[in-house]
Amino acid sequence: MSIFSGLSMHELSLAEEMRSIIQTYAVKESVRKVIAVYLQIGTLSGVVPEALQFCFDVVVRGSIAEGALLKLQIVPGVAKCPLCQAEVNIQNRYDSCSACGGFGLQLLQGDEMRITELEVL
Ligand SMILES: [Zn+2]
Repeated sequence: MSIFSGLSMHELSLAEEMRSIIQTYAVKESVRKVIAVYLQIGTLSGVVPEALQFCFDVVVRGSIAEGALLKLQIVPGVAKCPLCQAEVNIQNRYDSCSACGGFGLQLLQGDEMRITELEVL
């Protein structure tokens, strides 16, 4: 039985993707050890921070990033209304405009998940 059973495949595959990005970078830059990984996660990305942290800890075992801290920066959802041009905070991707009630908001931020910085030795 897999140790990942019960965990979202989403976070697991993201964690594996992060490991591969980190390893590619580490080889290119002759990094000996990765101490911390700074990561932006949008509230609309569907990523559960605790699950990602757990998956990351597991998948980096034995790699250059073993034991690295994951420093998460949560990015709130912000969208622009095509009707009234307001920029509003949203909790869900298909929320209506809180200023005029209109739909069809254009997402400006909040669905990202990206590594912004690595702290290395
Ligand atoms: Zn509006």
